[in-house]
Amino acid sequence: MTELKATIVLSKGKEQSLQRFHPWVFSGAIQRIEGQVKEGDPVKVVSAARDFLAIGHYQIGSIAVRIISFRDVPVDAAFWKARLAGAIAVRRSLGLLNSDQTNVFRLVHGEGDDMPGLVIDFYNGTAVLQAHSIGMFLIRAELAQYLKDLLGDRLQAVYDKSDKTLPVKAGVNPENDYLYGCSGPTIVKEYGNSFHVDWIEGQKTGFFIDQRENRHLVQQYSVERDVLNMFCYSGGFSFYALRGGAQKVHSVDASVKAIELTNRNVELNFPGDTRHEAYTADAFEFMRAIKDKYDLIILDPPAFAKHRSALHQALQAYKKLNAKAFEQIRPGGIVFTFSCSQVVTKEKFREAVFSGAAISGRQVRILHQLNQPADHPINIYHPEGEYLKGLVLYVE
Ligand code: SAH
Repeated sequence: MTELKATIVLSKGKEQSLQRFHPWVFSGAIQRIEGQVKEGDPVKVVSAARDFLAIGHYQIGSIAVRIISFRDVPVDAAFWKARLAGAIAVRRSLGLLNSDQTNVFRLVHGEGDDMPGLVIDFYNGTAVLQAHSIGMFLIRAELAQYLKDLLGDRLQAVYDKSDKTLPVKAGVNPENDYLYGCSGPTIVKEYGNSFHVDWIEGQKTGFFIDQRENRHLVQQYSVERDVLNMFCYSGGFSFYALRGGAQKVHSVDASVKAIELTNRNVELNFPGDTRHEAYTADAFEFMRAIKDKYDLIILDPPAFAKHRSALHQALQAYKKLNAKAFEQIRPGGIVFTFSCSQVVTKEKFREAVFSGAAISGRQVRILHQLNQPADHPINIYHPEGEYLKGLVLYVE
């Protein structure tokens, strides 16, 4: 059992957000720390009146404690197994554990699964773990073992890919490696489409799992359309468009590796299909002159704002990008546009897209408002967890 070596005492009045189950304690809310505490230690959090509030992982930084329990319970093997089992139960209820069409999904989504600081993606038998907090990083080997205990033969390997997700300050030196078993790059299936996934070399944990349902929706809109899939990465949206009966599909990404991957994936799903072409190019350059070429455009850029300080610049970039699409798309065209920046709220993103539409002067209707899929659940007490936003627009 993990012993709680320290108690965090909050300043007067700072207990309210924890009483509403918000899972973060900001450093400014702390009055004092009693006992010896190291980064990553589980700590007890109490109010100024010394009432128990929660248990969480301590870390130096603006978010000082990430809450793992609002009850005064032992944080032991049984505790973590129950948490992981809860996350597995959600995926089972989504039909993701036994699907013969889809074997790639998010198994643990941080705060959304009451495990702040932990992300685990499942790739056809390999779990890829990313620790975003030192507390989770320090117990990664145990977590891998518990996952194995729970999933049995379904799990062949667990790979830790935390080298880029941990704050530098913490003094640990993460090196990516297998925590359990060993497996190579694999082919995963999403709605029956096949994708090469390489968690070691690929971006994030290897694949942008969070766009599954939105990619699926593209299929429905692609019949006889000329499609531009901008920021394509591994080509996801393009296959759904091809499958949906598009006339032509152009995939564009600034990364050479992404374009190679897209081409390999097209070969895997649609060998020799001449409807598809992929280009390595900068989005803003490519979109300078696409007038009348496309009647379905997908814009899925990387997070333009990783921090609040970049918010204004990010909103300008969204506005500019969307304006370019609205200005040039054929009449009757469809735009799928996204933002995955956590600091850009749904409202702010919509405003930026509105401004882009206004610049173009076109008549634009919202057909769908999209978000992240159910295997990226949002903790109702943690609205910051709603990070992926999308709009499907009809441009007259
Ligand atoms: N739509 C993809 C995920 C996109 S991730 C999917 O469904 O899997 C964002 C992608 O944008 C990355 O592959 C990155 O290489 C690419 N990118 C970043 N900046 C870019 C730019 N200025 N122009 C074109 N592509 C860019």
